[in-house]
Amino acid sequence: MPQKSPSRIHVLGKPTGAICNLNCSYCFFLDKEQLYPNSRFRMTDEVLETYIRQLIEAHRSSEVTVAWQGGEPTLMGIDFFRKAIALQEKYRKPGMSFENTLQTNGTLLNDEWCEFFKANNYLIGLSLDGPRKLHDTYRVDKAGGGTFDRVMRGVRLLQKHGVEYNILTTVNRVNAEHPLTVYRFLRDEVGTDWIQFIPVVERLNEGGVTLYQEGTEVSERSLRSGQFGNFLIAIFDEWVRHDVGKVFVQTFEATARSWMGLPPGMCVFSPTCGAGVALEHNGDLYACDHFVEPNYLLGNIQQTSIAEMVGSDRQQQFGQTKLTALPSYCQSCEVRFACHGECPKNRFLITPDGEPGLNYLCADYKQFFKHVNEPFKILATLMHKGLPATEIMQWYVMHDRKLKEQELLRSRLKQKAMSKKQGFGTPKIRNQSHKKA
Ligand code: SF4
Ligand code: SF4
Repeated sequence: MPQKSPSRIHVLGKPTGAICNLNCSYCFFLDKEQLYPNSRFRMTDEVLETYIRQLIEAHRSSEVTVAWQGGEPTLMGIDFFRKAIALQEKYRKPGMSFENTLQTNGTLLNDEWCEFFKANNYLIGLSLDGPRKLHDTYRVDKAGGGTFDRVMRGVRLLQKHGVEYNILTTVNRVNAEHPLTVYRFLRDEVGTDWIQFIPVVERLNEGGVTLYQEGTEVSERSLRSGQFGNFLIAIFDEWVRHDVGKVFVQTFEATARSWMGLPPGMCVFSPTCGAGVALEHNGDLYACDHFVEPNYLLGNIQQTSIAEMVGSDRQQQFGQTKLTALPSYCQSCEVRFACHGECPKNRFLITPDGEPGLNYLCADYKQFFKHVNEPFKILATLMHKGLPATEIMQWYVMHDRKLKEQELLRSRLKQKAMSKKQGFGTPKIRNQSHKKA
């Protein structure tokens, strides 16, 4: 095994490549179909077996994650995933345990799928962009129709069978304007307690949104500058007052960890990349799921092992570039420890001092990280003292009460000043003149 290969490897398997039964307007995977013209986009049994065997061989740790994504992976049918489980048993090393995860749009789920997920402890990620109107803006089927009812049916089935799931919400130009509507819907109506927010940033180049991430303009679905920061802040303000310890919002968890001096657990907020690779249906391995482009193809697992490719100088360099390409504007940024310039795929702005490579979402993250600085400092202190994180909600009750009192005091003083200005005289003079009369 190559020396540089990490003890745990994270591979996102895409058994149907970019193929999906829906046609979500902002889906960057759909463009990836161009990578494999005339392909059937189905992972063969041979590639599947090579993948599972190599993944297990590549691990020096006892926990292995087998993660499936798409396109829409359920298009493969349940038998494909049954085989994947059987192969895990076939190649399992002593003491090894598996976590199986699958990201889905939820529209093809039924009782059989959910029974299978439950029996094999799958963690399901389900894509849902908010209540009907917001969800159906971009998450449409091939005929352009909304998919909300089908997705909600999928959620209810997962809940009925007690399958562990989380919700993945893409934040786009439309739903970003309604942060509390989205958050309260997910929390109160869907009943989820685990949410991931993924910002939509689609770059436009001469060919529009293409296979290559090039160009400095963004599509009309992409977030406008400032939207993502406002979105996160509005939800944070609600969450920190009511839901700490009850609802897990991935961005908040990762940020809190950075404030505590721990690794954030999200690649976008880590100093380097390179730990997670993407496996296409035909065995091609790419540097990252966000860089499934010809320039980032590491090789094919049928010729070279996953461990070798992940440990290769090329992949190491890909990972380090996130750090070495950081513009000096970021290097001296006060929230760099939490941001690290976010994902390189979004770094296409010019810094105020004229250096390329600034993240499109820079202003948003700066705004958000500054906003959470005080609460997360408090949270970190609580945690260091061994106190529960939920105590921060109590701190906010007092904080809000104090603000209210200050506001009340301010408005009383203002009223007093106004009546002094108008009236010290008016009634007095009138009285006086009355007396005189
Ligand atoms: S390129 Fe972006 S998505 Fe990929 S590992 Fe780096 S930060 Fe994560
Ligand atoms: S907030 Fe902006 S300047 Fe600071 S590290 Fe992030 S991208 Fe760079």
